[in-house]
Amino acid sequence: MNVTAKLLALFNVEKQIRGLKGRLTAAERFLAEQDKQLGLIDAQKAAVDQQVKQLTVAQRNSEAEAQKHSTRMATIKTQMESTTKSKDYTALLTEHNTIKLEKDKFETQALETMTKIEELNKQVAEFANKRAEREKVRGVALADRDAKAKEIEGRLAELTAERNNAKTGVAAEALSTFEKLLAVRGEEAMAPIEELDRKHYEFTCGSCQRTLTMDGVNALLSTGRLTRCTNCGCILYVEKELAESMAPAGKK
Ligand SMILES: [Zn+2]
Repeated sequence: MNVTAKLLALFNVEKQIRGLKGRLTAAERFLAEQDKQLGLIDAQKAAVDQQVKQLTVAQRNSEAEAQKHSTRMATIKTQMESTTKSKDYTALLTEHNTIKLEKDKFETQALETMTKIEELNKQVAEFANKRAEREKVRGVALADRDAKAKEIEGRLAELTAERNNAKTGVAAEALSTFEKLLAVRGEEAMAPIEELDRKHYEFTCGSCQRTLTMDGVNALLSTGRLTRCTNCGCILYVEKELAESMAPAGKK
């Protein structure tokens, strides 16, 4: 077998492996997406938890301030009861009313903060629901991934062995070129040459349709040396039918 024929055999195995892994890859991607979604829910919940923590501290502070003002008001009230001078009484009353306004402000703050905390706690509960639902989906995704992996396990082992066999005897440089192309172009790593016009000896690259040089086509037909499309870079090969129909012409 010439190098192109060897690479084509390897390419065919690679394509089968890709086809087989395709379904598993989709299942793996779906599973990874579920993990990502779970992570997102956890991050959102953590942010809300943090807010609740901060607001709880703020609410306690407001309550403590309101309490402090209440105590102060009670003290002033006692003083008012024992005072005899009208002027002192008026001053104490003014102070009492000023402190009451402050106290009311803190009480309102505490209430408003409490309302916010309650709203956020509802969100936290929703996150728990969302998480539970997402975990169900993840469970299905995991089972599906495992089933698909199991399904292809045997055939994949066979194909991997075939691939190793196909690689033996391929020149290192040609193999490296092929593997790089496979990584970048996937199933377009190799392409058949296509006959455009036999009479005028016109052939094109099966991948990008660029017209090929006569030298390239001749080399492929005669020696099967590694030939790449000058436009897209894929490794070219000649399909069996075309090679057979060309054989007499090649012998002339
Ligand atoms: Zn091409």
